[in-house]
Amino acid sequence: MRGFANMLTNEIQENAGRYLMNTYTRLPISLVRGNGCLVYDAEGREYLDCLAGIAVNILGHAHPDLVETITRQARQLIHTSNLFYTEPQTKLAQRLVELSFADKVFFCNSGAEANEAAIKLARRYAHNTFGPERFEILTMVNSFHGRTLASLTATGQPKLQEGFGPLVPGFRYIPFNDLESLKVAITKQTAAVMLEPIQAEGGVIVPHPEYLKGLREFCTEHQILLIFDEVQTGMGRTGTLFAYQQFGIQPDIMTLAKGLGGGIPIGACLATDKVSSAFEPGTHASTFGGNPLACAVALKVLDLLIEGGKLEQSLVAGHYLAKGLGFLKGQFSCIRESRGMGLLQGLELSIDGKPLVLECLERRVLINCTMGRVLRFVPPLIISTTQIDQLLSVLSGVLSKQR
Ligand SMILES: *Cc1c(COP(=O)(O)O)cnc(C)c1O
Repeated sequence: MRGFANMLTNEIQENAGRYLMNTYTRLPISLVRGNGCLVYDAEGREYLDCLAGIAVNILGHAHPDLVETITRQARQLIHTSNLFYTEPQTKLAQRLVELSFADKVFFCNSGAEANEAAIKLARRYAHNTFGPERFEILTMVNSFHGRTLASLTATGQPKLQEGFGPLVPGFRYIPFNDLESLKVAITKQTAAVMLEPIQAEGGVIVPHPEYLKGLREFCTEHQILLIFDEVQTGMGRTGTLFAYQQFGIQPDIMTLAKGLGGGIPIGACLATDKVSSAFEPGTHASTFGGNPLACAVALKVLDLLIEGGKLEQSLVAGHYLAKGLGFLKGQFSCIRESRGMGLLQGLELSIDGKPLVLECLERRVLINCTMGRVLRFVPPLIISTTQIDQLLSVLSGVLSKQR
C-alpha cells in the first residue's frame, strides 16, 4: 500500500546513500506526513512522535494555525533581506523582548548561528568595554552549542571536535554544575561564561538552582557576561517560556532556535541594551535571518503558547511524564536515574540505550538517546496524557525485556 508517498523506504534509503554526504546515522524509516503528535512513514505506518524533530515541532505536526500562517505569509512576502524593514520581524522582536529579560534581538536561522552571534557579541562587547585582551569564553564540559567552527569549539566534547583543528582560539572548558571550578578558572582575559541552563544533548543534566544563582552573582561581580544557550530549553520546553525563569536569575545574552519557529528554521540572539549596543551596522548580518515567513510563524507559535494556553498544558504534561518515568525507575533496575524539567526528560540507563530506541521504533514510538545511555523524551508540547500513557507502556514493555 503506497498511498502516502511515491517511493518506499528502501528506495529512499538507497538514494540517500548514493547522493547525501554521510553525516547522519538515521533510523530505518522514511517519514512522509504528520498530524499532531503522530507521524506516518512511506509504508503508511503510524508513530507516536516523542522526539518532535529534536525538540523543534513544539506544536506538533501540521498545526492548522501554523499551516494557515505559513500559507498566508507565503502569498504575501517570503523574503526581503535585511536591507528593508518588515513588520513580522519587528513584531517578533518586540514580543520576545516583552516576554524576556532582553531589550534587543538579532535574528538568524539556526541554533549554531544564534550561538555564533552570541559569541561575536560577547567578544565585541568585552573588546569595546575592557580592551582587546579580554576575549576568552568559558564553556562547559559535555556542553553542546552547534557544529559551525566557533560553536563547535564552544561545545565541550572532544569527540565532536576531532579532526577539525585548528579550532577557534579563546575557549576553555570547566565542569558543569561546579561553581568552584569557575571561580578558579577566570582570568583577566575572561569575557563570558556560556552554558545551557540544562544540558540537553549532554544527557539531560539539571544543575542545582544554587549553582546558576551563584554563577550569576559571580559573573556580575567580575563583569563577566553570562550567556544562556536556550536553543533547546527555550520556548516552553521546560515548563516556562525560558528555562532561566525557573532559576530566579537572568542572563546577559540568550540564544533560541529549535522550538522558536515550530518547525520553520529560525534562530535568535537576545541581549540587554548595554550588551547589544556593541553591535552596529556592519558588525554582524544574515541574509535569511528574520525573514517575514519565519517571523510570522514564530509570532503565531508564541501566540499559541501564551494566549492559546499551550504552555500551561505542557507544564501539566511534563509533570505527568516525569511522574510516569519516575515510576518506571522504581520498576526496572537498568534505570539509574529519571530526571528533567517540563517536557525535557531523560532516563539514564546502566545499559546501552540505542537498542531500546530501535525497539521503541518497532513498537511505533519515536524517542532518542544521548551520551549513549540516556533515553531522551522531548515530545511536542501538545502531547496528551493518553499519548504519554502510550509512551510509558511501550517503554515498560521494552525495558522488561532487559536484564
Ligand atoms: C540543537 C542545539 C544547538 C544547535 O542548533 P542547530 O540548529 O542544529 O545549529 C545549539 N545548542 C543547543 C543547546 C542545542 O540543543
